[in-house]
Amino acid sequence: MAKGIKSGETLPNPNCSACPRLGSFRAENKLAFPDYFNAPVPSFGSIDSEILVVGLAPGLHGANQTGRPFTGDGAGELLYPTLLKTKMAKGKYLARPDDGLEMTRARITNAVRCVPPQNKVTGPEITACNGFLSAEIKSMKKLRVIITLGTVAHGAVLGAVGLKKSAFKFAHGAVFELPNGILLADSYHCSRYNTNTGRLTTKMFENVFYNVLAKVNG
Ligand code: URA
Repeated sequence: MAKGIKSGETLPNPNCSACPRLGSFRAENKLAFPDYFNAPVPSFGSIDSEILVVGLAPGLHGANQTGRPFTGDGAGELLYPTLLKTKMAKGKYLARPDDGLEMTRARITNAVRCVPPQNKVTGPEITACNGFLSAEIKSMKKLRVIITLGTVAHGAVLGAVGLKKSAFKFAHGAVFELPNGILLADSYHCSRYNTNTGRLTTKMFENVFYNVLAKVNG
């Protein structure tokens, strides 16, 4: 865990200085977009959820603006309708944190809690933020399945539970049982890039969530 971060905390403090590059970017964004959230984005959904969805990092004009993961981001346009369709959430998704949408069975978080320049995080930033993910997973006493969106989230979750990436190779649709009994279900990230290029279709994405639901409902 990076210097200055207390173990057991699930969210960096608003002025976290563990990642110098992300700290400078936050300072720039506070000047450029003073009405934005501009701080580490908290997870969304109950800590008692059975399902945890792990994304990459907040988007500049999406979660970094609204303060809710995936909210206002292109990726949220696929994630939230899928959560609603599979009844892991209820209400309406209007891309605003006050849209009244409620998470009913899942919680959403990110591997890195602060917005990175050009949507790209570095290895040291993933490592610096990993203690928060680890603390969050430990705090979720009813957790059964972690859905990882993309290879960064997949690697971050393995790191957070103390496992080597080489033992669990990322593959869209793969489900692994971790030694702690929690299942890890992989999906390609629901980014606009992946959906626009056809790497990920709505059906492929929904299937991952239906498959997880079948496992949780047993
Ligand atoms: N918004 C997020 O909060 N996370 C992602 O991974 C992408 C967009």
